[in-house]
Amino acid sequence: LLFDEDFVAPDRVVLRGRRLEHIKSILGAAIGDRLPVGRVNGLMGLGEVISLTNSEAELIIKLDQQPPRPLPLTLILAMPRPKMFRRILQTSATLGIKDIWLINSYKVEKSFWQTPWLSDDNLRENLTLGLEQAKDTAMPRVHIRKLFKPFVEDELPALLEDKEALVAHPGTPTPCPTHLNRPAALCIGPEGGFTPYEVGKLEEAGCQSVHLGPRILRVETAVPVLTSRLFNACL
Ligand code: SAM
Repeated sequence: LLFDEDFVAPDRVVLRGRRLEHIKSILGAAIGDRLPVGRVNGLMGLGEVISLTNSEAELIIKLDQQPPRPLPLTLILAMPRPKMFRRILQTSATLGIKDIWLINSYKVEKSFWQTPWLSDDNLRENLTLGLEQAKDTAMPRVHIRKLFKPFVEDELPALLEDKEALVAHPGTPTPCPTHLNRPAALCIGPEGGFTPYEVGKLEEAGCQSVHLGPRILRVETAVPVLTSRLFNACL
């Protein structure tokens, strides 16, 4: 994925650091090779390697293909523990989710919010890894809300307008739908689950509680399983 700062001319980029390593050691690129590239929030295409040294690679690029369509899903996720967080971000970006809301919940430990992975640079790095995996360019937006009640009462109802809104909650009577054909918002709880109070507030804001059967999935599993269950046709 190419960022504005990589461009030295409208059709030329210079890559260093992680991306240089990636094209050298993972793709085994040599001068003359054509590699798939994309411009962040822009088109996909090919880049021809015209010079390659230990410190940088220069490519001439031609961008003329649309990236895959975004998934019509807004993910509202109780802040996961740092160990899982990076992987969940990468997976969400790979699946084509473009709006990720990280919210507080009673069972989110305060320390989770201290993770360095929440810095803009680290968010961008992990989302980029996820987009590159999917050959996508549209950078997801991450919204951070450290207070549950103001988010659910003041912001959520408007966010849910024109969307099918679900909260995944084990043990609730309604099964999760197997497909949706309109944009959706999906709330996923923390490791210990949403409290009954929180589920009540999410329902008041317009979400329907749904279950996925008797197996309790880890959050990092619940995100891709629910996404593919609801939007298999779009993936
Ligand atoms: N003991 C917690 C509970 O009963 O809510 C388990 C939480 S689970 C590890 C983390 C989140 O993943 C849940 O809050 C829910 O959003 C989602 N989840 C996992 N398994 C689920 C299932 N079988 N049905 C519905 N949601 C599930």
